[in-house]
Amino acid sequence: MKWDLIRMPAKPEVSNLRNACTSRIFLKSVFKGGNFMNSQEYMNLAEEKLLHVYNRFKIVLDKGDGVYLYDVDGKKYLDFAAGIAVFALGYNYKSYNDALKAQIDKVIHTSNLFYNVPAITAAQKICDKTKMDRVFFTNSGTEAIEGAIKLARKYAYNKDGATDHEIIAMNHSFHGRSVGALSVTGNPHYQEAFKPLMGGVKFAEFNNLESVKELINDKTCAIIFETVQGEGGIYPAEKEFIEGVRKLCDEKDIVLILDEIQCGMGRTGKMFAYEHYGVKPDIVTMAKALGCGVPIGAFAATEKVASAMVPGDHGTTYGGNPLCTAAVNEVFDIFENDKILDNVVEVSKYLESELDKLVDDFDVIKARRGKGLMQGLVVDGKPGDYVTKALENGLIVISAGSDVLRFVPPLIISKENVDEMISIMRKVLA
Ligand SMILES: *Cc1c(COP(=O)(O)O)cnc(C)c1O
Repeated sequence: MKWDLIRMPAKPEVSNLRNACTSRIFLKSVFKGGNFMNSQEYMNLAEEKLLHVYNRFKIVLDKGDGVYLYDVDGKKYLDFAAGIAVFALGYNYKSYNDALKAQIDKVIHTSNLFYNVPAITAAQKICDKTKMDRVFFTNSGTEAIEGAIKLARKYAYNKDGATDHEIIAMNHSFHGRSVGALSVTGNPHYQEAFKPLMGGVKFAEFNNLESVKELINDKTCAIIFETVQGEGGIYPAEKEFIEGVRKLCDEKDIVLILDEIQCGMGRTGKMFAYEHYGVKPDIVTMAKALGCGVPIGAFAATEKVASAMVPGDHGTTYGGNPLCTAAVNEVFDIFENDKILDNVVEVSKYLESELDKLVDDFDVIKARRGKGLMQGLVVDGKPGDYVTKALENGLIVISAGSDVLRFVPPLIISKENVDEMISIMRKVLA
């Protein structure tokens, strides 16, 4: 198959340009030898060329606007997944797009051997919102976890010089797929084939303080968990649990790492979910909605812990590059100026009550769990079947764990969008 892009005539004499094919770039990429590739052909090619680690749903997405996505055939979808809790501002948010375009024209990358303004101001905004003191930028959530683990270990190493420190993580957690992050991910199925993983990790039961206490010893350097478990099935931390762990960490000078990669950045109605509990971690990780679409993550830490790291201890080529941090700056400004959190608080109350009605009205829906615009419905049967049905009806939702339908829409959704989602869900469930 030949993949040379052909030059499009200024006015293409093709009468059947479908409405999805609006941009010149898009036209160029699909127009080959006088024929357009249809979505099936794209999917076939994907199955041939991409590493087969996903069973993808059978749509090829093309563009987005607000809370709607469109596939290459022009079909419209209401998006309650936001690219897995990433696109908090929805698609085509003008000031966000403009900020990125402006930064592209200035400089995209500099490396961390030099200072750049967007990274500095973004770090300041993160410190402001997290009440942490220092930030390290990464390219993903997984790398934020890696960095947090290294920082916790270095902090402990500086105290006693030991190199056999332990970390306590939680069952059903998710922290990423690299070897370090996978090692603290409490899902044996994800881990098995990739052993040996990082040593010194023990798993407690989420929301069971006693199970954490039992695992603590003199080697424990960190306790890590998601303030609201995401992939594991949307389980918010209980107040007594998070307070109890904080107290244990204070008593033994253990580093508390809260993973806010999915639940942070306003999703639960506070900028960071731990603010609901009046508890502060020593290290917080963030990613997903931090850049609202550009690949960026970060971990932030208190001065006491952060000062354990010195030049040479950690690094990254791309992390904190001006393009991605320009996005972070704009995201924080938009949250402030456009009162995104107020919308989350208001619409999530409505979303909760409407989802509760589904629990009442349909036997196959067992329960609702969640916080803010991070909601899960426990379903009978495979959640993937519901997802497929919803897609057929123009709604994008995703699953979590083995029995949960996950609702993590853009944070700008309205009550009308909730009504639209619920009416599709009722069709799917009927
Ligand atoms: C998505 C996620 C990660 C991993 O982030 P990536 O950007 O995919 O590397 C880690 N922790 C939590 C809680 C997540 O939801």
